Amino acid sequence: MEYEGRYKQFQQQKFDCLLFDLDDTLYPLSTGLAAGCLKNIQDYMIEKLGIQESKITDLSNLLYKNYGTTMAGLRAIGYDFDYDDYHSFVHGRLPYDNLKPDPVLRSLLLSLPYRKVIFTNADKMHASVALKRLGLEGCFEGIICFESLNPTHKSTVSDDDEEDDDFEFMGSKSSPSNNSEIFDIIGHFSEPNNGMSGLPKTPIVCKPSETAIEEALKIANINPHRTLFFEDSVRNIQSGKRVGLYTVLVGKSQSVKGADYVLENIHNMREAIPELWEAVKVTNEAYYNNGVPVETYVTA
Ligand SMILES: [Mg+2]
Repeated sequence: MEYEGRYKQFQQQKFDCLLFDLDDTLYPLSTGLAAGCLKNIQDYMIEKLGIQESKITDLSNLLYKNYGTTMAGLRAIGYDFDYDDYHSFVHGRLPYDNLKPDPVLRSLLLSLPYRKVIFTNADKMHASVALKRLGLEGCFEGIICFESLNPTHKSTVSDDDEEDDDFEFMGSKSSPSNNSEIFDIIGHFSEPNNGMSGLPKTPIVCKPSETAIEEALKIANINPHRTLFFEDSVRNIQSGKRVGLYTVLVGKSQSVKGADYVLENIHNMREAIPELWEAVKVTNEAYYNNGVPVETYVTA
C-alpha cells in the first residue's frame, strides 16, 4: 500500500525536468559578463570583419533583434567566419574572475530530484568555464550549446594570401564595404514599409527560434509539458511557452506574457516555486536509484 501511495504521488508530480539558460540566469547581470560580451562582439565586427565603427551599434542591435544573436545575423547578411574563431575572440577576454562559486545555488540544485539540463546559445567552452567558475560542475545531466545545434563551420575566406583560393568567395576581410554580397540591413529598415519579410535567412540555429528549442528538446529527450524552463530573456521565454514549456523568467521583478513564474534572482527558487520541493521526499530515492549521469549533448 505504501508503494501505491508513493507511486500515485510520483505520477502527480508536475515536472520531471528543469531546463536552464546559463548567462544572466544562473548568475546576475551585475557580473559584467554580458557587457563584456557585447564589447567583444563589436570589436570582432570592427577588427575581424572590417565593419565601419560608426555602423556598429545600429548593426549589432538590428542583428540581435532580428536573428536572436549578433553572430546569427552576421552570417545571415553575408559575413563569413570561423565559428570557433568568433567564440574564442568573444569569450576569450571576458571577466571570468567576476564569476564566483555559488554554493547556495549548488545546494538548491542538488536538492532537486529532477533531470537538470543547460540550454545556452553560447559555445561549449564558455559553458564549461562559466559552470566551473560558479562551482556548479556536476549539477547538470548535460549541456545543449551552440555546437549541439550547429555544425562546425570554417571560414571560406583564407587568411593566407599566398594560398590558392579554391573556395567560393563569400566575403572579404580587406574590403567588405565594397562587397555587394553583404545585405544592407540598416538600409532595409530605414525604408518605412520594410519589415522582417525580405530579410535573408541565417544558417545558425539558436534561441529564440522555436525550431532551435524544439531541436534542443529532441536532442535531450525532454517533454516540454513536464519541463520548467528558466530564462532571463523575455523573447526566449515567449518562444519556450509557444513550444509548450512551463516558464520561469529570471532576473526581473515584473512578470510578462508567457512567463508562468518570475524570480528576481535564481536563489529565490524555493520561495517562488515551492511545489518543486513538495515532491522531493517522495521522489528522492527513486530518482537517485535510476538517474544516469550524462556529460554533454554536443554532437558537433
Ligand atoms: Mg541568458
